[in-house]
Amino acid sequence: LHGANDSIDLTGNAPRCHHIESAGIKMNHQAQFWLIVGSQNLYGKEVLETVDARGREMAAAISASGHLPFPLVYKGTMKSADEITATFKEANYDDRCLGIISWSHTFSPSKMWIGGFALLQKPYCHFATQYNKEIPNEAIDMDFMNLNQAAHGDREHSFITSRMGIRKKIIAGYWQDAAVQQRLGEWMRAAYGVHVSRNLKVLRFGDNMRQVAVTEGDKVEAQIRLGWQVNTWPVGDLVQYIQAVGETEIDALMALYEQQYRLCTDNLESVRYQARLEIAMRKFLEDKGCHAFTDTFEDLHGMEQLPGLATQRLMAEGYGFGGEGDWKTAAMCHIMKQMARGKTLGTSFMEDYTYHFTTGEDGLVLGSHMLEICPSLAEGEARVEVHPLGIGGKKDPARLVFEGRAGEAIAVSLVDMGGRMRLICQDLDCVKPIMDMPNLPVARVMWRMQPSLAVGLEAWLRAGGAHHTVLSFDLKAEQMRDFARMLDIEFVHLSKDTCLEQLEKDLFIMDLVWN
Ligand code: MN
Repeated sequence: LHGANDSIDLTGNAPRCHHIESAGIKMNHQAQFWLIVGSQNLYGKEVLETVDARGREMAAAISASGHLPFPLVYKGTMKSADEITATFKEANYDDRCLGIISWSHTFSPSKMWIGGFALLQKPYCHFATQYNKEIPNEAIDMDFMNLNQAAHGDREHSFITSRMGIRKKIIAGYWQDAAVQQRLGEWMRAAYGVHVSRNLKVLRFGDNMRQVAVTEGDKVEAQIRLGWQVNTWPVGDLVQYIQAVGETEIDALMALYEQQYRLCTDNLESVRYQARLEIAMRKFLEDKGCHAFTDTFEDLHGMEQLPGLATQRLMAEGYGFGGEGDWKTAAMCHIMKQMARGKTLGTSFMEDYTYHFTTGEDGLVLGSHMLEICPSLAEGEARVEVHPLGIGGKKDPARLVFEGRAGEAIAVSLVDMGGRMRLICQDLDCVKPIMDMPNLPVARVMWRMQPSLAVGLEAWLRAGGAHHTVLSFDLKAEQMRDFARMLDIEFVHLSKDTCLEQLEKDLFIMDLVWN
């Protein structure tokens, strides 16, 4: 596959990262984050050499911890406004640099940083840490105090970014602690999501489903704010690709299906047609350089089936998908899959389908779609089945049927509120489906909303969340908050702590702020 990052120079010298490798869409193997350390010339050569050595040591040790998805590269100790401005300019034009992390070992007067921050175009994290973990009782004297000033250096450093309105992540804690390193790693994934977003091309086969509101949106605003190029191709162009697929290519893919899945159908012609679709759609996506796509059952002119198995397998490879023309969910699906690269619990397009109300507070939601749930969520075997679709008036499509896994997850929905995008993220507890539902012909995922079905549902509806979401077991709400902050879009988190009265007030204030 040819990824959007292939144009980036892959010949540099930065250490190759092994934690985030996975099959499917390629990524920029030189991707890295930069650590810069704040200081000033006031302290003299000896102190500055110590600061420099410690910055180098810190970057190397955290990179080697196994907790980061990308290497952290030390880019020097900043002692003057000119150095700072030059480093930020370099970060802006270097495609390998996905973000800057800064730390003030000593005091670093922040008027020196204004010129740099004014130019900053990359994600930024203020790392509030210090070299020593504890106060060394007998070793502490005024020399020690002059060298180790992070506690008040942090405040000077953060004042200027607050005053300038710089969108910053703040991570506080000791740099050798695993939990702190993990938070750095999770933020890096969110920053990588921003990089993916700014390079994303979304391919629409046909338009949105007629009369549906929530899948609509301002594609120009999405490109300005999020970087997405969202464009439409006629289904007839895809049909030409479908007709060009050869029988031997289909034979080879059918052999792979037989290895990977249990084929529970006599209608192998239907399965072969999905193989034909998979080959044609992948080639079309590659030719257009797109990593997310939509289709709609209302526009399949010249096609025999709605893509089912084909779309599920493309999603498993890393492509984003949204049903019924839902380009916003398709884009978020790809971005979140890339943020979760190398993780294995799964991320998929999802739709809230049916409630399971109970008398207590443990009601459930059944999530699925007409066909297109990503098998990365599957627990146990995935079966290929063929059933009628009921709508669309086409032949019976083959699809993968499976049960979703149990565990903590998030559901994410991006809606266009008119003049702004709102990203809604809800915490879920997925459960193994409590019934076998033998006549349900699609993949099934079941969850509890936090803090309960009633409160979680009222909160989701209050916020205007869509019926389509991206569900991920591999990402956390904090990462989606980071992503939204970096791209300057509204963020609403629905969690175990959601209070409906407070949420209503918060949304009212957000309407005033954004309008
Ligand atoms: Mn749908």
